[in-house]
Amino acid sequence: MVKNRRKKNKSLNKKQSPRVNWNFFILVGIAIILLLGIFGFVIYKLQIKPVIESPKGEMKKIPADVKKEMEQPNQATSSAEIRVPILMYHYIEYVQDKKDKTRQALNINPDIFEQQLQTLANAGYTFLTARELGYIIDGTKRLPKNPILLTFDDGHWDFDTVVLPLLKKYHVKATAYIIPGFTGGSDFMSASQIQDVINSKLVDIGAHTVHHVSLKGKLSPVVTYEVTQSKLMLENTYHISVVSFAYPNGSFDQQAINAVKDAGFTTAVSTIPGIMQSGQNRFFLNRLRPGYRTGETLLNYLQNTTFKEY
Ligand SMILES: [Zn+2]
Repeated sequence: MVKNRRKKNKSLNKKQSPRVNWNFFILVGIAIILLLGIFGFVIYKLQIKPVIESPKGEMKKIPADVKKEMEQPNQATSSAEIRVPILMYHYIEYVQDKKDKTRQALNINPDIFEQQLQTLANAGYTFLTARELGYIIDGTKRLPKNPILLTFDDGHWDFDTVVLPLLKKYHVKATAYIIPGFTGGSDFMSASQIQDVINSKLVDIGAHTVHHVSLKGKLSPVVTYEVTQSKLMLENTYHISVVSFAYPNGSFDQQAINAVKDAGFTTAVSTIPGIMQSGQNRFFLNRLRPGYRTGETLLNYLQNTTFKEY
């Protein structure tokens, strides 16, 4: 018996001896997990890298996968096309830095913007919000005569200091697409400025992703997060409902459209030049850049049917 026990103990000791190797494998395992974590973090950071807005880089055509989806028989919609110009603005200020070409390309001087408001108001245009356009596409709100939308992307500080006083002066409604992840940043409105805009009751707040991310071809969880979270952040911070979305740099694909639909938005605006809106393009509505056109030039521009250039 004693002999047997000794034998057993010996064999146990033998089995316990390779424990050092297990420690090695655990260390390697931890190293692999750490490396994967760093790799994942880098991929995530690259995926949410903000896109710099540029008129040249904007998407001007419906992407192929979206076109294909539209051709599916089950996608046929009875919704009629309506003529509603949606004007797209970014900065309304006197640009101080003359070297800042991007800012200049996206900017309209405040005096020109005011003249555009006067032109449109005097011509009898009815200023709608994106929320109201959603109701009109649904058929629950009547289309007014001479409808038009003013949309402002990015939520730059000049929206509160320059645009809002002019909207109040002419009692004009607009839609502002905010990037909640950038609130309070040096070039953006603070939370109290956004609250000031909301209090005016003239502005419908829309979402523009959390980090101003170009959505086309991005990983599905990133798209879902950027779309859904931007809506929730704005809704929870300001106790409002957010129903319209703008694609940063106009970049979208079918995956992005599906995320926008699933998040509960009722419309989304693109950067595809055009004036016709419908149930078919309610998640990539056409927009126009008014540029520096005012008076008759602006009114004539809005009478066009095709818009190749802004
Ligand atoms: Zn933008």
